[in-house]
Amino acid sequence: MKSVTILGSTGSIGISTLNVIEQHTDKYKVFALTANTNIEQLSEQCVRYKPRYAVMADEDSASKLRLSLSNLAPDIEIFSGVEGLTNVASHIDTDYVMAAIVGAAGLLPTLAAAHAGKRVLLANKESLVMSGKLFMDAVHQNGAELLPIDSEHNALFQCMPSDFHNGLDQIGVTRILITASGGPFRETALHELEQVTPKQACDHPNWDMGKKISVDSATMMNKGLEVIEACWLYKAIPDQIQVVIHPQSVIHSLVEYEDGSVLAQLGNPDMRTPIAHALAWPERITSGVKPLNLFDVARLDFENVDVERFPCLGLAAEAMSVGGTSTTILNAANEVAVSEFLEGRIKFTDIADVVEQSLSNIDSVNADTIDVILESDHQTREYSRKIIGELAV
Ligand code: NAD
Ligand code: MG
Repeated sequence: MKSVTILGSTGSIGISTLNVIEQHTDKYKVFALTANTNIEQLSEQCVRYKPRYAVMADEDSASKLRLSLSNLAPDIEIFSGVEGLTNVASHIDTDYVMAAIVGAAGLLPTLAAAHAGKRVLLANKESLVMSGKLFMDAVHQNGAELLPIDSEHNALFQCMPSDFHNGLDQIGVTRILITASGGPFRETALHELEQVTPKQACDHPNWDMGKKISVDSATMMNKGLEVIEACWLYKAIPDQIQVVIHPQSVIHSLVEYEDGSVLAQLGNPDMRTPIAHALAWPERITSGVKPLNLFDVARLDFENVDVERFPCLGLAAEAMSVGGTSTTILNAANEVAVSEFLEGRIKFTDIADVVEQSLSNIDSVNADTIDVILESDHQTREYSRKIIGELAV
């Protein structure tokens, strides 16, 4: 029986994780559940899944959750804040940690799970983008198992031999191909992009996800973050990775070998497949995902990325090539810009501008300590808010 902590259990990935666990109560039990401020939803999850611990982002929400559970589930201990999150993520009695908090807020608890040598199921790509080397070192030095949940990286994991940690050259891999749906604006006229609304940006054609990653998919910053994520996970450089637009989202990514073989992983676009894979690896369990019907899919299309339409992708690859805190800056500027766009304060096309200006005007330094990374994140957020203040109408 594996004991699972779900960081961000009220989100899209958190809910899918609970759904898979619920199908295998003989193999997995819920150890801790955490949420930002949604007391009602976390309370319902606590009553249903009976974790040992629950964590809310702030103490006020934690007190309300205590009150709400005082009769229904009085045995659950409730904590708050980053300390509460890092405690449950590194607790001696938890085996697996699903890192499904969105954005930089996930960094410290995810890193704590790696330091504690857990099996880390990584959905929170932002933490790896922010702290790449530090994070991978924590995994390797503490014997943690890092299993990617992002569908592309999970597909790559499934298409690589088990010694991929030695580097692509050693395993005969010549290229990594990451697929992208192209999001909701793949065919929108370029001049109309300025006017698109948050609702349109969140309306993804193939995947049902949280708002931040939905906007990232619409700008293709999500693919940029994924290129960086793949570089760290598979010891690649951006030039070894090709992004391919594949509107059907059935092929989740591909690995090309020197003998000409190209291995791909296919399936219906449902995150329960990578979640079940990472929970059960190296075994397999059912996920509840419908079998893929190739006759229904009928065709698979591939296109090149239009770099003018999706400038964020180029910015991300460049930040990775520069190295140091560049990817921390990229991530922080993007988080601020996406949140301001969702609040209706800037235009969709301003997101890339905010990121570009932040990368040009903030110095990249060696990202070798967590303090440097947190300081760079903080500095970039202040800078981005300042330039957005000048932009906003
Ligand atoms: P979501 O917005 O649906 O859920 C986010 C979760 O994080 C919620 O439980 C929320 O309560 C919690 N949270 C938010 N801010 C917090 C804070 N400050 N402190 C503590 N908790 C906080 O997001 P999601 O779509 O589930 O995505 C989660 C992560 O998984 C993201 O990093 C995303 O990039 C990644 N991911 C998601 C998908 C998907 O299909 N949804 C696919 C691949 C990767
Ligand atoms: Mg993905």
